[in-house]
Amino acid sequence: MLSAAALSAAWLRNPWLLWGVGPILASVTGFSAAAALLELLLATSWFDSCLITYASSSNTPRKQLMAATHKRISFTKQLRGSAKTLLGPNNVINGIGLTLLMLWAQPHVAAWMPGTVFGFLVQFVALSLVGDFGLYWGHRVQHESKLLWRLHSKHHAIDTPSPFSTLFIHPTDAALQGAIPFAVAALVVRPDPGVLYIYIAARISENALNHSGIDSPLLDLLTLKTLPFRAPAAFHDAHHKYCNHAYKASNYGESFWLWDWAFGTLCPLSGRAASKAAGGEAKQADIKAR
Ligand SMILES: [Zn+2]
Ligand SMILES: [Zn+2]
Repeated sequence: MLSAAALSAAWLRNPWLLWGVGPILASVTGFSAAAALLELLLATSWFDSCLITYASSSNTPRKQLMAATHKRISFTKQLRGSAKTLLGPNNVINGIGLTLLMLWAQPHVAAWMPGTVFGFLVQFVALSLVGDFGLYWGHRVQHESKLLWRLHSKHHAIDTPSPFSTLFIHPTDAALQGAIPFAVAALVVRPDPGVLYIYIAARISENALNHSGIDSPLLDLLTLKTLPFRAPAAFHDAHHKYCNHAYKASNYGESFWLWDWAFGTLCPLSGRAASKAAGGEAKQADIKAR
């Protein structure tokens, strides 16, 4: 039987496993673990006091709004949609594309990780910044093109998101907001494979948190959303609530509010989220401050 060390060495030598299968496994593992955990937390009442609510929804409890969304697009349909995004032919194509790209950009890989913690942090932060910058434009272009909006509107049919609705998106949307930004980030940063896997798993887990409706200081701390420039979960939730339309939408970023601020598409939040996101006058003033 192959030992762990032999498997690790064989994996490092095989570009299809390294850049194709590895990132897919990282995305499947990261998303499944985070989404399942967040769905479980929602099934309890532990985080009920942290659920995002909107005055414009006549103070209807969040869980009631989630149930109404599930009535239109059932939980199983959302789950199937997310599973198809992760395991369907589109993600196999993404894996092949990333492998070919990295074979050209980084043909020789000697180690899984950088030699120092600092080296790891530099690669991780660079991947996060470049990846979110790519996601910002991959998302924005879909609101500003009539043709692409037709595809992105599938995801916007979810007006009150929940964790398993995160990847209920069209394959082209998944490529524009996921695979292409990941590939561009990998091309620019040239990371060690272990850092890329951790980044992909963390990014997709964060995506599930952004669709959970939970705006919790504890979860923000655990997911490093308390760091400067980071977008709180309420940031993307407000995008679903207020930007269910093509053109003139806002809050396109997911990990950082930086790009929306720089390109004039930031819609400041209110309450705790506002103090982190932008400060100043809240246009979306009815996100309930706890
Ligand atoms: Zn959108
Ligand atoms: Zn979304």
